Amino acid sequence: MIDQTQLIDGKAIAGQVRAEVRDEVAAWMAQGHRAPYLAVVLVGDNPASASYVRGKTRAAGEAGIESDTLTYDAALSEAELLAVIERLNADASVDGILVQLPLPDHIDAKKIINALDPNKDVDGLHPANAGRLMADEPGFLPCTPAGILELLRRSDVETSGARAVVVGRSNLVGKPLANLLLRRGVDATVTVCHSRTRELVAITREADILVAAIGRAHFVTSDMVREGTVVIDVGINRVDDPSRERGYRLVGDVDFEAVKEKASAITPVPGGVGPMTIAMLLRNTLLAARRDFRG
Ligand code: NDP
Repeated sequence: MIDQTQLIDGKAIAGQVRAEVRDEVAAWMAQGHRAPYLAVVLVGDNPASASYVRGKTRAAGEAGIESDTLTYDAALSEAELLAVIERLNADASVDGILVQLPLPDHIDAKKIINALDPNKDVDGLHPANAGRLMADEPGFLPCTPAGILELLRRSDVETSGARAVVVGRSNLVGKPLANLLLRRGVDATVTVCHSRTRELVAITREADILVAAIGRAHFVTSDMVREGTVVIDVGINRVDDPSRERGYRLVGDVDFEAVKEKASAITPVPGGVGPMTIAMLLRNTLLAARRDFRG
């Protein structure tokens, strides 16, 4: 067993980033600029999405960023949503646009994301921003991968030369994170795993840094982790819990209680990666207002 496992406190680190953004927003406005403005688009009545959006706009307000949530009925057509995006793209008072995912089934999310002005795409999901990340050009970094990198940096985790294993290859998390870890200056040696990976356990056990972005509760068990590994849990999964008033609780992709006995450092769920995602969204919105896309 590891002598002392470091709990990577995403909530506290996100608090630092949010305070820094608040100071930078104040400095930007002291130069005579208006407040950064974020437009959030919410389609349908998915309660989890509504709750995420509330969290994001509340955090924006606390950082001095103005925002509005444009809420539409689930029956909104794809063409109508594209028209909304076009209007926000053309509006010079809008710095950042966030389309809360998932969208209703009749709307092609890719089409909507591709319609965003890449320079207002504060979620970093437009293919232009994905390409900029690949090509090491200035662009918006997707918030969750950027947040994970910031967690590692601020927790003094050595990435240079480290073997990083990312389980999950989504456009939202796994792929951009792998690219970020590979960047010059971060310098990890990266392996990306997915549902077709053979001998997954042998690979995860090689990791110095193991990132779980799978979407399956407690998927990463203790036998998958070597002593001393840094474990980053991206997963947010609902599991039934009759003892809670709402009937469920949120757990990660990692079997936290067992894995923490082996990990040298680990993020909890909730309170790990999640708060960082919001903090990086605020940061991206500030960069968008400053037309500063260094990411
Ligand atoms: P996706 O469903 O898009 O991707 C999941 C990935 O896991 C896929 O690449 C899939 O492989 C892989 N996978 C599934 N089963 C296995 C398996 N048995 N073995 C190995 N790999 C497997 O999810 P996301 O990336 O969007 O999200 C992942 C998790 O992170 C979710 O719980 C989500 O809620 C959470 N999340 C949290 C955020 C935060 O702020 N904390 C932000 C975004 C997401 P394949 O490609 O082969 O299907």
